[in-house]
Amino acid sequence: MGSLTYFYLEIICFQYVVGITAFFLDGRYRGYMAFVLVPLVLIAVEYVNGVYSAATVEYFFWLMIASIAFCELINFLNDIDLFSKYAASLVVTNIVSPILISSEWRTYFGMSTDNVYLPILIGSVIILWFVYGYSAALQRKEVQILELRYEATYDGLTDLLNYNSFSDYVSSADNKKPEHHVAVMMDIDNFKQINDSYGHLEGNNVIRFFSTSLKIFFNKNFPQNAEVYRFGGEEFCVLFKEKDIRECFELMLRFQEDLASKSFVTDKNEIVKVTFSGGVTEADEFTEIKKAVKKADMALYLAKKTGRGQIVCPDCEI
Ligand code: GH3
Ligand code: MG
Ligand code: MG
Repeated sequence: MGSLTYFYLEIICFQYVVGITAFFLDGRYRGYMAFVLVPLVLIAVEYVNGVYSAATVEYFFWLMIASIAFCELINFLNDIDLFSKYAASLVVTNIVSPILISSEWRTYFGMSTDNVYLPILIGSVIILWFVYGYSAALQRKEVQILELRYEATYDGLTDLLNYNSFSDYVSSADNKKPEHHVAVMMDIDNFKQINDSYGHLEGNNVIRFFSTSLKIFFNKNFPQNAEVYRFGGEEFCVLFKEKDIRECFELMLRFQEDLASKSFVTDKNEIVKVTFSGGVTEADEFTEIKKAVKKADMALYLAKKTGRGQIVCPDCEI
């Protein structure tokens, strides 16, 4: 943008526009590079044209230091958004620099020697307009990418991690150094009956109620080393890392008690008691997590077959 206005519109003179733009929009160090490189190119051009002078180099150098200092100073202010900092730096430095510039240089840059401020201001505004459009487009894209990433990672109904995230974690965990995992599979009891009695929308609310209870319980009791996933439907999985299986089993029993102490209330004020069945197993250093989840699924099946509302842990001795 700097080159465009500089060479074609001839209304911008300040060589640190590129540096300021890079400093605020592309990172401090790239900004520093541009602050040094652009004047170097100008000096080289000047040298080829035979108008090189040591005084110009010195002038460019001090202007660079002053511009960097201004950018760093304004960057310190916390309450101003990035684009306003950028705009202020650009306008101020573009207006201040011609005050310092000699009339000889104004002629060299194709600028009027009488009134340079207005064309420079117009040039700054044009650059700001282009950069604003460009950075707004980038920001929109960033938001879209974040939204897509969220949708790919989390379940829309419950905001729990989804099956995709589980698969990603399992394949990455299996390839990394061996870690001990405990897998818990859970399934809400007689959920079809809840759907049939209260409708699918209330059924969804029950899934949300269960997930929220699970999230609150885990955040309160076990904020780290445990991830909760919604596998789909009314099935959930918890993966504990580096935790003793008996400790995990006891924690799940406590969650069962916690859930039993609450009730779900429908739109029509009907009270629904929600229970679940669970299976707990562990994956030691030599067992893959996927195998542990399959074993936990079998334990869950056993819990269902032998009466529901219970958690089966074949490897726990309590
Ligand atoms: P069990 O105790 O053996 O688990 O019985 P169940 O009725 O919970 O099990 P089943 O698998 O027979 O039924 C689960 C039902 O959940 C079937 C399906 O229609 C319903 N379902 C699956 N996903 C959703 C969902 O996202 N929302 C709602 N409302 N229902 C769902
Ligand atoms: Mg079920
Ligand atoms: Mg099920």
